[in-house]
Amino acid sequence: MTDHLMATYRRLPVRFERGEGAWLWDSEGNRYLDALSGIAVCGLGHAHPGVRDALCEQARRLVHVSNLYQIPGQEALGARLCAAAGMERVFFANSGAEANEAAIKLARLHANRRDVQRPEILVMENSFHGRTLATLTATGNRKAQAGFEPLVSGFVRVPYDDLDAVETAAQNRPNLVAVLAESIQGEGGVVPPSPGYLTGLRELCDRHGWLLMLDEVQSGMGRTGRMFACQHEDVLPDVMTLAKGLANGVPIGACLARGEAAEVLGPGSHGSTFGGNPLACSAANAVLDALEEDALPERAAELGERILSGLRDALDGVDGVVDLRGRGLMIGVELDRPCAELVSQALTDGLLINVTAERVVRLLPPLILDDAQADQIASRVARLVRAFLQQDGQPAG
Ligand SMILES: *Cc1c(COP(=O)(O)O)cnc(C)c1O
Repeated sequence: MTDHLMATYRRLPVRFERGEGAWLWDSEGNRYLDALSGIAVCGLGHAHPGVRDALCEQARRLVHVSNLYQIPGQEALGARLCAAAGMERVFFANSGAEANEAAIKLARLHANRRDVQRPEILVMENSFHGRTLATLTATGNRKAQAGFEPLVSGFVRVPYDDLDAVETAAQNRPNLVAVLAESIQGEGGVVPPSPGYLTGLRELCDRHGWLLMLDEVQSGMGRTGRMFACQHEDVLPDVMTLAKGLANGVPIGACLARGEAAEVLGPGSHGSTFGGNPLACSAANAVLDALEEDALPERAAELGERILSGLRDALDGVDGVVDLRGRGLMIGVELDRPCAELVSQALTDGLLINVTAERVVRLLPPLILDDAQADQIASRVARLVRAFLQQDGQPAG
């Protein structure tokens, strides 16, 4: 019964009891292939032995102590993430929204120290950065914001993947101090920017003295074929945020920074009771172990190519299919009409997928798929999409 839960989610009528790798089983014993990973969270699949053992071992010794004390697992995780991302310091939180809140506060404090009175942060249309007030304001989705006014001031919005618009904003907004953008837009419809866009943002930030803050909450942790999606362009941001895939389902978020940005937050300026506690960090360290040992970012690139080419073979030129795109295991099938029903049709078929931005089937499968599972995802999604387009008939008016 969901009577006592606030109705923030429209839940599908299924209860999962157990998972293993890319498979899930419901309370009736039915098996499902997971092409969503709890929305890009369980990148190592379900019940991953390394994560499971790390969690059990840590739970037996110590779950939580508070950041009033030194936490070796957090220090190790911080060092490893910094090495992987080219960053210098990390603040640990519990979610993507909190990681972005830390980035926003950091940008403001940095501006304040340089005597910029009313600092502004440049954000993108169709972006998603979270549901807290500041991150909701940064989010480029009017529907998500509706009713929560007054929103937070100090954000300026431009279209994504449009460097001219950023340059124009630079001319008109003297108080801009930072750019916050996803390296690949996720909720906005799986939108990788044009080649050169992130490099262009980096150059504009350098020219205008802004911080480049990249939200890798969804695209990070190996999913797109590199550890972080900005590494496809060899772009180094000043601030990077992580969460979703970082601890395979244990809540954690991270705000990484380098250079001046790494020295901004100090005692009293920010904090978190739970952030980076021993339990969450043990899971995240186990995730990093597995990503490294099994070369999972490289594998994600391979699997992504495999799924995308399977989808192309089956869906290219099909009426109603507008675009097939993605990078690694962040894949979108854009249709010409709203297609939310596809989610429950796939569920009935034993497949977990998602639809975002109304018309985009989004696939975020775990990085531990075998080739046969990848092929199954491609063929089953293609079959569902074809059937949906035929049954639905009416193209969008
Ligand atoms: C999911 C997501 C967030 C928010 O993460 P929460 O953990 O739900 O707060 C922020 N940014 C991006 C890009 C996301 O995909």
